[in-house]
Amino acid sequence: MKIGVLKETKEFEKRVALSPDVVKLLIKKEFKVIIESGAGESSYFLDADFEAAGAQVVPKKEVFSADVFLKVNAFTLEEVAEMRKGAACISFLYAYQQAELVKAFKEKQILSFSMDAVPRISRAQKMDALSSQANLAGYKAVLLGANHLGKIFPLMMTASGTITPAKVLIFGAGVAGLQAIATAKRLGAIVECTDVRPETKEQVESLGGRFLTVEGAEGVKVEGGYAKEVSKEYLEKQQQLIREKIKDADLVITTALVMGKKSPILVTEEMVKSMKTGSVIVDMAVESGGNCELSEKNQTVVKHGVTLVGESNLPSLLPVNASQLYATNISTLLLHLANSSGFIYESEEEIAKGVLITKAGELVHPFTKSILN
Ligand code: NAD
Repeated sequence: MKIGVLKETKEFEKRVALSPDVVKLLIKKEFKVIIESGAGESSYFLDADFEAAGAQVVPKKEVFSADVFLKVNAFTLEEVAEMRKGAACISFLYAYQQAELVKAFKEKQILSFSMDAVPRISRAQKMDALSSQANLAGYKAVLLGANHLGKIFPLMMTASGTITPAKVLIFGAGVAGLQAIATAKRLGAIVECTDVRPETKEQVESLGGRFLTVEGAEGVKVEGGYAKEVSKEYLEKQQQLIREKIKDADLVITTALVMGKKSPILVTEEMVKSMKTGSVIVDMAVESGGNCELSEKNQTVVKHGVTLVGESNLPSLLPVNASQLYATNISTLLLHLANSSGFIYESEEEIAKGVLITKAGELVHPFTKSILN
């Protein structure tokens, strides 16, 4: 089986789907690997590194002779048009937002699998690219926030005076939020965090953060580990808590996502106005609508004296590690589904069933179906 790796074309994207180390591993397993020339350049992996690992580096049009295509971001319609009928594709697809692409996959009978649909189960941890990328994003969000802040994080007692530690407030204790807590703590900040899932309290506390409980309202139902939408009553009580806490925060990091839905607005314009001049908000949910009313996608803006960072692709700012981890995730999934002779998965097996989007001209993924049909 021939694997084809295309250069990412999405704006601001610096990652690549395979690293030279992972290419070596796939070649050992008797796959052939062809890579578009320059695909790894922005991640500092050169064509020569891929060639040394055993890949063939070719111009873009020659990559389309592959049997299975690997990418970070979803394939473009132009790319699908160049593929042979019945080829296979694996990438982050967010297929429920990609009606046109799903249609193109169906027409071309593409076998497609989505990295964002890997089940959050122990057995699939090595394939879990949502987690590997969110972890790096949580780290980078703290560093970006720290950079925009006019003060330091730790307590510092000096001959010239005592500097009190910065206060960091984090919304959402998923993978990104927990890494943000750990990073901000390591830098010496006082960290508080809230999440709709009460079970995250213990995880926040184990990292040295303080958990803010929304009193008097039930948390949220969880499905497959993901938060579902919360009640109006919960949101009102949560807003009250945020109003009280946000006035004292130096850095706010928001990570609250609801799968398949627009992100909840947690920080309103009125709350931004109540914040200290010079404080910073990093809105990690900006790609799916944002948790702050005022943040702007891919922009850093100052409003009411507060700096709002709306970087939509944080993992791409750490392209070396992000590509290394993603390459491990996607190759592990590929090896779960296929060997060098072809695809061998069983359609009822939990991981295969979770990631399979289209097959033989049909949309087969139930969640995607429920949104697109
Ligand atoms: P996510 O990116 O979907 O969401 C981020 C966090 O925001 C979540 O913790 C969510 O509860 C929270 N949130 C949603 N709405 C909110 C609101 N209104 N206010 C405050 N917080 C809100 O989360 P994720 O990092 O992708 O993790 C999703 C789940 O998957 C978690 O339960 C996590 O523990 C689990 N997980 C399991 C595995 C595994 O077992 N292999 C691996 C990774 C993650």
